[in-house]
Amino acid sequence: MSVTIEKTEILGWLREENPARLKELWQRADEIRRSRVGDAVHLRGLVEISNFCSRQCAYCGLRVGNENLARYRMDLNEILEAAQQAVSFGYGTVVLQGGEDYGIATLWMAEIIRRIKGETPLAVTLSLGERPDKDLAAWRKAGADRYLLRFETSDPNLFEEIHPPLGRRKFDRLAILRRLRGLGFEVGSGIMVGIPGQTYASVANDIALFRELDLDMIGIGPFIPHPGTPLGNGLRFFPSVNGEQVPNTELMVYKAVALTRLVRPDANIPATSALATINKANGRELGLQRGANVFMPNLTPLKYRHLYQIYPNKACIAETGDACNGCLSLRIKGLGRHIGRGQGGRKDRDLFAPERGSVSRSIPQTQSGTMIPGGFELTRPLRVTVPISDERSRRSILNPFSSHA
Ligand code: SF4
Repeated sequence: MSVTIEKTEILGWLREENPARLKELWQRADEIRRSRVGDAVHLRGLVEISNFCSRQCAYCGLRVGNENLARYRMDLNEILEAAQQAVSFGYGTVVLQGGEDYGIATLWMAEIIRRIKGETPLAVTLSLGERPDKDLAAWRKAGADRYLLRFETSDPNLFEEIHPPLGRRKFDRLAILRRLRGLGFEVGSGIMVGIPGQTYASVANDIALFRELDLDMIGIGPFIPHPGTPLGNGLRFFPSVNGEQVPNTELMVYKAVALTRLVRPDANIPATSALATINKANGRELGLQRGANVFMPNLTPLKYRHLYQIYPNKACIAETGDACNGCLSLRIKGLGRHIGRGQGGRKDRDLFAPERGSVSRSIPQTQSGTMIPGGFELTRPLRVTVPISDERSRRSILNPFSSHA
């Protein structure tokens, strides 16, 4: 099955409104999801460890300028308890998420990561903003496996309009993503759909960039401004470009999720909480049927849950971790899918990641449409590296077109 899709085709699908045509897109995304990452739905236990943030993003309720929000930072024991709860529910990953909170000290966070890695079998994913390289390196060294940092939009002007720099520091999220990869993290990113001033071409560029960045995890949600922010209270307004504005609707998010599955067939793609917020009845299920393969049940203690107000009316604000777990299990089974076991890292990344004691070989460019084991279509030279101990993989790399792979 070909996974090649040009930017013009992405743009066409983003503008498509015909339900019968869109059904084709959903089916294509679902088939590729099934063939590349299977029917397992991986559950990542989300722990919102702090709602402090030093940034002023123009749409987010955690922005430092929002004085109407009571702030919290979980302590070490609370975080470890949440991680143990993730283990008890059978999850393979805990996601520690917060605002860009410099009250989260480098060494304190490193200690938490070390404790979780030492006391549980969990993969640790961090989502703590644009932290300096030394923090990221320290946390990787402590054992963190993955890092999430959404670039939100690939349009640099639009990005800057809604994400003011921190003091005089200018950040480049794409550069940080590359450095995260260099540090050995599995890297996740994503976008918001329907940002004021966002065009269809801009979203098509975002999706094409997912492919270029070779992301391991990709989260996509609708733009939902918090009412206590300049973009939520109407004090700031962005005119549309040439009369064009991507709507922040559920349908647009499904299109972006499905197209993302086409451009990054092996990535882990969540059906996000923001999607569940705009369609509480079955937004997550529809996401899973249109390309997604991950859920992130919330394990944040209830006393903090309502304070993590990035946007209003969040789904699953009052359910305990237990209730969330039971509800999601039923929803997954209702779709005829099953809950993934283990850490659920990106499969092909596992195969292609350079490791000590590895062999590698370049595969030359071949005629368009040539498939290699695993379903890749070769469109450019590809260097792959596999552990030398993995005989099956070694054989497939040394003889990529063998039917015995
Ligand atoms: S979007 Fe992230 S960095 Fe921006 S204010 Fe909200 S929590 Fe902070």
